[in-house]
Amino acid sequence: MEFDLIARHFTRATPGAVLGVGDDCALLAPTPGMQLAVSSDMLLEGRHFSPQDSPAGIGHKSLAVNLSDLAAMGATPRWATLAIALPEENDAWLTAFARGLFRMADMHGIELVGGDTTRGALTISIPVLGEVPPGVALRRAGAQAGDDVWVSGMIGSAALALAYRQGRLFMEQIDAARVLPALYLPTPRVELGIALRGIATSAIDLSDGLLGDLGHVLERSGVGATLEFSTLPTLPVVQHYLHEAVARDCVLAGGDDYELCFTAPAGKRDAVTAAAQSAGVPVTRIGLITAEPGLAVIDTNGQPLTIERTGYDHFAA
Ligand code: ADP
Ligand code: MG
Repeated sequence: MEFDLIARHFTRATPGAVLGVGDDCALLAPTPGMQLAVSSDMLLEGRHFSPQDSPAGIGHKSLAVNLSDLAAMGATPRWATLAIALPEENDAWLTAFARGLFRMADMHGIELVGGDTTRGALTISIPVLGEVPPGVALRRAGAQAGDDVWVSGMIGSAALALAYRQGRLFMEQIDAARVLPALYLPTPRVELGIALRGIATSAIDLSDGLLGDLGHVLERSGVGATLEFSTLPTLPVVQHYLHEAVARDCVLAGGDDYELCFTAPAGKRDAVTAAAQSAGVPVTRIGLITAEPGLAVIDTNGQPLTIERTGYDHFAA
């Protein structure tokens, strides 16, 4: 049954691999001279999605969050494997899941070359491999005092959608419809990450919230940062709810944005703008890296904002 399932749902042509699905291992020939970037994020039912979620959306997001890690490294996506535990063999569910997954894969030129399928509570892990020229990967440790802090796209939408879903915030239905796609169908910023090679001094993808994730960069780089709250890019619908503490929290510390937060020297502003344009993604300057450690968020008068939460902690009670 398992073999059939794999053949039906997860076996596609893989011209970018020496050998794809069907043997004990896949065989891959990396481009000579390139470094491999490897990452995997796991998604669990109940924690990262619920049983009612659309299977195509689960397929999309499972791969998107892993592509987002490659994006944050400036790597070009090449290959992925899929380890999946399924409670039952549900052909309709699998067909839709595979459709969402392969759509995302085709969009970014990544090939599914193998995996493992087993019975169990729905759990998905998608190790991804990308390529990056030596010396240009966007690491967390490279931020320098005086660098600008940038973020791509809009932030806070996915967390606001989740707060709405969990009943922590009332929203008009029409407003909810504007933020729900950010939660269920995130866009990994792959092209932007590649375009920022040689320009950004550091980068991270926002999965657990701006303050917490930027905090990782600051820690690794041994620097601090000051962000101006009013410059943080948010959808108008998020602005509309900003009088609610939970909405401010979503912007600063909400997870699931999958935008890139990166630093670059002030002298590279034009290069950053050109990279963003070539990638078709808006980017916004949101603050400055400081020599003194610590992360401050200030209002338009330069007064520090009080921050309650800083990010999503997977091990918090
Ligand atoms: P093995 O017993 O050697 O682990 P499997 O029967 O688990 O082999 O898998 C057979 C082939 O199908 C292998 O090439 C494996 O990589 C691939 N495969 C298994 N599950 C998946 C999946 N969900 N997606 C893609 N390829 C898969
Ligand atoms: Mg196996």
